[in-house]
Amino acid sequence: MAYDFDLYVIGAGSGGVRAARFAAGFGAKVAVAESRYLGGTCVNVGCVPKKLLVYGAHFAEDFEQASGFGWSLDEAQFDWATLIANKDREINRLNGIYRNLLVNSGVTLHEGHASIVDPHTIEINGERFSAKNILIATGGWPQIPEIPGHEHAISSNQAFFLKELPKRVLVVGGGYIAVEFAGIFHGLGAQTTLLYRGELFLRGFDGSVRKHLQEELTKRGMDLQFNADIERIDKQADGSLKVTLKDGRQLEADCVFYATGRRPMLDNLGLENTGVKLDKKGFVEVDELYQTAEPSILALGDVIGRVQLTPVALAEGMAVARRLFKPEQYRPVDYKMIPTAVFSLPNIGTVGLTEEEAREAGHDVQIFESRFRPMKLTLTECQERTLMKLVVDAKTEKVLGCHMVGPEAGEIVQGLAIALKAGATKRHFDETIGVHPTAAEEFVTMRTPVAG
Ligand code: FAD
Ligand code: NDP
Repeated sequence: MAYDFDLYVIGAGSGGVRAARFAAGFGAKVAVAESRYLGGTCVNVGCVPKKLLVYGAHFAEDFEQASGFGWSLDEAQFDWATLIANKDREINRLNGIYRNLLVNSGVTLHEGHASIVDPHTIEINGERFSAKNILIATGGWPQIPEIPGHEHAISSNQAFFLKELPKRVLVVGGGYIAVEFAGIFHGLGAQTTLLYRGELFLRGFDGSVRKHLQEELTKRGMDLQFNADIERIDKQADGSLKVTLKDGRQLEADCVFYATGRRPMLDNLGLENTGVKLDKKGFVEVDELYQTAEPSILALGDVIGRVQLTPVALAEGMAVARRLFKPEQYRPVDYKMIPTAVFSLPNIGTVGLTEEEAREAGHDVQIFESRFRPMKLTLTECQERTLMKLVVDAKTEKVLGCHMVGPEAGEIVQGLAIALKAGATKRHFDETIGVHPTAAEEFVTMRTPVAG
């Protein structure tokens, strides 16, 4: 049977655009539907605007430290509206680039909400199209627990468009988004509290990293409240929010920002018209080839709930395009050694196993750790310290994990990820000549294990 398209992609985010463009490049007839914004979460309400706000927040400490280098500045003033307007302009520019990328690669773009009518039919803006394969790349959406007064809280989606910088912000959650946005608000001058339900935030990250960041944020004056959870939020007559915690304490804030994870975006997608199955957490279930339980339908990216990172969605998009239209070039995505950064202030950069994971997996581990005051701060009052840590297998000498908290940790860890992927041993690290004077050279000069 002749279909309108070989591949119909629902969602022009990181994974969908990558799959669509490469599939079209391999000669397939491809359409992509987008209901909201070209480039998806990452470009519009994720990685990109977030990083721009992090840069904005970083200036506060740059201004503070400048006097140690002889600079004197009048009192620095910050204008939220300017930052947001400039950010919006940049995002608009990127939306245009995404449009061109799609159109120039021969992909048909349908703007509107797409739903699946049957395993080979899509409906969008009242029109129906048939496709040999359908790719669900609809991403995720912030999830706020339905406590009384949850309607007064915002998520990352709204945070990027606030009219004003709130004076007092309560950030709820202990994952990437909570930690990053707490840093943004705090850096830009809001009185910021980070509230996390567990003992220590960033569950799953290396224990030394979690503790080090806790110490650094506390030094900077951020209010960290662990083992704390919200029972209800009440709006007061003056518009401020009264927050009652489960332990009975009450806090006041002008903004309560929830960053408590993301659910798959499957709203009105029509999955009931297909054999697609969901996993226990509600994400679309796929096999190792991104195939759902419905033979003509595939899924990738945040909607499958594997690793919710843009570069992973991109890799999955590429894998799907190759698998369908260039099978001789197909290579499975390798989910091991995925480097990642948390753009907190200071940054976290990490790749490979944490100390806890390495021990759990039965490795006989050697730990190398270094904490030092970054050189740039030696002429300033700032007492921030950097942490670098290597987790090594004592028997094979293989470096199992690299972890860092400090300036540019994300930039530094990208290169280390290549070394780890190539199977580097501690000896390779030791035999590598450092780049002097940098912070990164510390990764090749740690000689004495702190723990075995
Ligand atoms: P998305 O990019 O979410 O794209 C899905 C698209 O599908 C959306 O554009 C949506 O509008 C569209 N859509 C949904 N349903 C339909 C429908 N029925 N019809 C038509 N279109 C539809 N990752 C990193 O690697 N680094 C970071 O620094 C980082 N920072 C982040 C910061 C925040 C605040 C957030 C929320 C996420 C961040 N991420 C980061 C995660 C990253 O954004 C996601 O992993 C990535 O965007 C997932 O890509 P995707 O293609 O699966 O989905
Ligand atoms: P995460 O899953 O990273 O963190 C969610 C946090 O919310 C956890 O600390 C969790 O606690 C807590 N939580 C969950 N449910 C509740 C609840 N009902 N009440 C109170 N606390 C709760 O999600 P995020 O929203 O921070 O980010 C989503 C994903 O987006 C990330 O996992 C990441 O993959 C991606 N991302 C990547 C970034 C990057 O690469 N720099 C930046 C931002 C996002 P607990 O640990 O106890 O379960």
